[in-house]
Amino acid sequence: MSLRLLILVLPLVSLILSACEEKVSDYKSTVYVFGTLVEFIIRDADPALAEKTVTKIDQDFQRMHKDWHAWKPGGELQALNVALSEGRVFEVSDFTLPLIRDAIRYEQLSNGLFNPAIGKVIDAWGFHADEMPTGRLPDFDEIKALAAKQPSMSDLNFAGHLVSSPNKAVSLDFGGFAKGVALDHAVKVLKDAGITNAIVNAGGDLNTLGSHGDRPWRVAIKHPVKWGVIAGLDLGDDENLYTSGNYQRFREHEGVRYAHIIDPRTGMPVDHIVSASVIHENGGLADAAATALTVAGPEGWYEVAKSFGVDLVLLVDAEGTIHMTPKMAKRVSFPDDKKPTIVVSDPL
Ligand code: AMP
Ligand code: MG
Repeated sequence: MSLRLLILVLPLVSLILSACEEKVSDYKSTVYVFGTLVEFIIRDADPALAEKTVTKIDQDFQRMHKDWHAWKPGGELQALNVALSEGRVFEVSDFTLPLIRDAIRYEQLSNGLFNPAIGKVIDAWGFHADEMPTGRLPDFDEIKALAAKQPSMSDLNFAGHLVSSPNKAVSLDFGGFAKGVALDHAVKVLKDAGITNAIVNAGGDLNTLGSHGDRPWRVAIKHPVKWGVIAGLDLGDDENLYTSGNYQRFREHEGVRYAHIIDPRTGMPVDHIVSASVIHENGGLADAAATALTVAGPEGWYEVAKSFGVDLVLLVDAEGTIHMTPKMAKRVSFPDDKKPTIVVSDPL
């Protein structure tokens, strides 16, 4: 991670949790994985147990990072991607198979807007790199030709753990929901260790367990355009908050921004400004849904939310208007000086 990014991320993490009063009994630890800092706050636990448990989770995270990495050699997903692009059959491990099954389901639920099989398109845009790409843009005709091959999770054939694809354009990229799966796993390990109150925060995407003492965990949703927060809310036990936005990572060329979130129908970056937040007990699903809602945008979010069955959704559009489900509207509060325009509608 570059120093600049570190300097940006550190205050952000503390800002997100700024509402959480510090107690001496809080155990805090930060690990670096998936290109971001993951902060653990664990309450009411023996510090030695908390430390041991975070160390175990960090080891699991590092394995996920290696084996679920879309393009770095040495891991399982990258090896699978090479096999698929060469038309070969690949034997997938028990560790990765459930993730592939989830990816198939999320693509179906999103009606193809969330498509973890478009790794080649994401790569063609230069986003398979640790740093943001600069310089010449890719050839748009080549991008469109790649998208026209319609890579899809539904191309995959299974014989037990053996996976193949007749469509060589399929390349798996789980960047849109792997963090959610990882944080779900982290909370499971904390629970198994007997820990009852914790929050695991990966740069604003977070899972909770229990409460913050005698009140719920209080968190904030980042403003999509400006520095700071747009709304605050309390999260109950096992509620997880995921936010996706096409402003988060992008490349810039001649004043135009090209976002890291791609519309699979065209292969082009999502160009409406939008930030989508979802609360759900399944962090992987919330993460996938937030990315799908970002692709759908202010016009199409309704259908996607309905299909995913998510009833706690908040979307911010380019004008700063907030679109919310009724349940979310009851939960959020806004800074007094910044009352936004709000549209509430119920997709369910
Ligand atoms: P997130 O920050 O959770 O919205 O995930 C963004 C990441 O998901 C990108 O960096 C890509 O790796 C991947 N991605 C981009 N577009 C899509 C899409 N339409 N469907 C699924 N994954 C995508
Ligand atoms: Mg996501």
